[in-house]
Amino acid sequence: MLEPMILPLAASLPLAAAIALAAGSPLAPLPLGALPADLLPLVRELQRHGFEVKLAVPPVRGVYGLYQARERRIWVAPITFELGIARQTFLHEATHAVQSCPNGVVAALGWQLPMAPVVRQQIGGILTTSYLGNKATEQEAFVLQGQPDAVPRLLAALGKRCPLPGPLSR
Ligand SMILES: [Zn+2]
Repeated sequence: MLEPMILPLAASLPLAAAIALAAGSPLAPLPLGALPADLLPLVRELQRHGFEVKLAVPPVRGVYGLYQARERRIWVAPITFELGIARQTFLHEATHAVQSCPNGVVAALGWQLPMAPVVRQQIGGILTTSYLGNKATEQEAFVLQGQPDAVPRLLAALGKRCPLPGPLSR
């Protein structure tokens, strides 16, 4: 049923994009192992704490990543791998996952993170033009996604804030 829609689209794309589309690369879900290796311990800890990580097209149009608090699900769009922003996107959404502990409401962690003035300016611009969400939680996620120690920071916060789902969980 999808074929008649996909074929005309592929025919109108440049050759490289058409080949990528034929191989399924920009839209097809990816295995979690496609993430940079140093992020995988964080992926495993998120899973152990009851979060789901999907490298697939998010259910919201036009976003690179998404965190769904109710489903405890992190989405990273496969296109971010081609754009070279998969790492930042995953760390951004992982930050929102940790922010949602312990009660499922995404709230700022209160981290004091170093932020260069130019980054502060850029984030301010992004937040005023494109984001309707909580400014403090977005700012934390944007700053953290670029920190060299983002993984240990998130692992520590995850262990401290997010309860492990147990056999007696209600
Ligand atoms: Zn965000």
